[in-house]
Amino acid sequence: MSSSLEVRIPGWAALQEAARSGRLAPAYLIMGSPRREGLRAAVQMLQLVFCVQPGRACGTCRGCRLVERRAHVDVHWLEPESRSRRITIGDPMSPQSDPGVRFGLIEPLSRAAVEGGWKAAVVLAADRLTLPAANALLKTLEEPPPSTLLLLVSDASHQIPATVLSRCQRIALPADMSPPEPWRTRFLGLLADLAANDSPERRHSAAARMASLWEEAAKHIEQEASGDDAAPADTAVEEARARAAWLELRAAFLAEWQAWERDALALAFGVAAEHLRHREHAEALAAEARRAGVRGIRERLRQLDALEHRLHLNLGEASALWAFFRDA
Ligand SMILES: [Zn+2]
Repeated sequence: MSSSLEVRIPGWAALQEAARSGRLAPAYLIMGSPRREGLRAAVQMLQLVFCVQPGRACGTCRGCRLVERRAHVDVHWLEPESRSRRITIGDPMSPQSDPGVRFGLIEPLSRAAVEGGWKAAVVLAADRLTLPAANALLKTLEEPPPSTLLLLVSDASHQIPATVLSRCQRIALPADMSPPEPWRTRFLGLLADLAANDSPERRHSAAARMASLWEEAAKHIEQEASGDDAAPADTAVEEARARAAWLELRAAFLAEWQAWERDALALAFGVAAEHLRHREHAEALAAEARRAGVRGIRERLRQLDALEHRLHLNLGEASALWAFFRDA
């Protein structure tokens, strides 16, 4: 991997193994800045398939270097048009000046690869897709041409239509976005507990226990927001501050949870436990990997997306969690 541009991608070892064995998902959503870590992660993901040694992403071979310079003929980059800040469906009257999704992505991906191997497309700031552009992209996501890798990069993924999100595997960056202690330890303890036993009763209690853990964390944050201000309390400001802090913490819980499931997926792929982010819970993760398998864990990752979507719709944390544990 190229050292200066290296970014820590959660579940990297599993991705490498998937690339080696030809089992990469056709589409990934990289959650991170399309100018910084998200862009670097996209380059590393591309190097997984364009490296002379598939899965290695050495950063120094011809394929890796071409990808990094954005000069590989079989990699198509799409980003918002400079004036509108939008990624359009493409203008058939002037496909050169406004290729959009149709002429910048769908058409080139439908043709054979110039170098005969993989084809890839990267959509930077995918949250800037217009609705017609997103709908056009959907068809490619549903029936991706063989040996095609599609990468969406966004730091505002809640603005991407759920139909598109649900067809992408998620990679949450940065990897160090963890909930602060003691919440992280308690949260992981809960996941470990559930991994060992997936009976319906356990699922029911898991939803309730997680909801109450989240509620406790939210209350704690609320108290912090109201406690550290010497000025006379402005309730509206305090509430807004507490809400923002809680949403940030909730996002951290979800990111940690994604990383947990990616660890389980890595084990299901046969990756050694030492490569896991949560190696202190390797036993529980192994139990989950045995029980659910690759297919089951991928389904769980999809259900985590659905959970996040429900939370964005403000459907209430307890009921969103309950729906997750019912479906996943
Ligand atoms: Zn290489």
